[in-house]
Amino acid sequence: MSENNLIETKDLSVGFPVGGQIFNKSVLKAVNKVSLDIPLGSFFGVVGESGSGKTTFGRALLNAVPITGGAAHYDDGEAKYDLGKLAGPDLKDYRRRAQLIFQDPYAALSPRMTVRDIIAEPLEVMKLCKTREEVDERVREIAAMCRLNLEHLRRFPHAFSGGQRQRISIARALVSKPRFVVADESVAALDVSIQADILNLLKSLQKDLGLTYLFISHDLSVVAHTCDHVAVMYLGQIMESAPTRQLFAAPRHPYTKVLFSAIPSLDPDDRGKAQRLEGEIPSPTNRPSGCQFHTRCPFATDLCKREEPTLESCEQGHSVACHRWRELAD
Ligand code: SF4
Repeated sequence: MSENNLIETKDLSVGFPVGGQIFNKSVLKAVNKVSLDIPLGSFFGVVGESGSGKTTFGRALLNAVPITGGAAHYDDGEAKYDLGKLAGPDLKDYRRRAQLIFQDPYAALSPRMTVRDIIAEPLEVMKLCKTREEVDERVREIAAMCRLNLEHLRRFPHAFSGGQRQRISIARALVSKPRFVVADESVAALDVSIQADILNLLKSLQKDLGLTYLFISHDLSVVAHTCDHVAVMYLGQIMESAPTRQLFAAPRHPYTKVLFSAIPSLDPDDRGKAQRLEGEIPSPTNRPSGCQFHTRCPFATDLCKREEPTLESCEQGHSVACHRWRELAD
């Protein structure tokens, strides 16, 4: 594994059996042969429409769903793990090092617990502190970093706005001093002005605590302003992956171009320029042959229907899975 990467995946797949126990013959491949490197200290974005597999990919890296094919390795300089083989004390240690910030700040917090108890719970479950005083000290420390007042700790979640609740969720995720954080649509449920506040908080925490984020989102405007690198997923596969500036300046894959054309613009001349994507995303239990995008791609040829394109490098750090990216770039 490269010392610059926190996580490397190679042909990572996640499949779920469907059809019940008797007719248990088909497999829903939510993630299909994903090879990605997540650099240490990066704000790494994964985008795609609903059903693209981005959430399952994030959960596989948290060991919350089983990896059924390929491999994923983690190395933060202190600990190295093969994520497909975690068990016992290694799994317990990885749970501390890798945390999740949930999407919905209203559903994520127990209404019966005080903010202090919500933030302290991971420390107590993982037995990371010896005394109650130690727990309280750590809770106060992370609450202050997440811009919560100490008096908030005695209250219950219903007393807070959406933005404040998301700061409580972030404090809970970071209290165990993780190195890797999966933020799954973590600002999607918030008003735009509050989104900016939470994104700024995530950025400053990244700098102060040396975090690496996997930022899962369907909102390309948010990703453009936040992430260093973006991977575009479709039907469980990576279609394109590049540093953010490079990707937004010159997208190569037809699917990425359609997604980008749909970003809302304040320029009235840009209205109506969004390209429409015909049809629905195919079922992951019944994948198309060849290029997974060919059923909706206006540029599909017989080759696209027959042969699956591999992810190939088109520029430094930029890769694309399309047979025709060269001719379509002109
Ligand atoms: Fe479209 Fe073919 Fe490229 Fe797939 S390989 S995105 S079908 S042009």
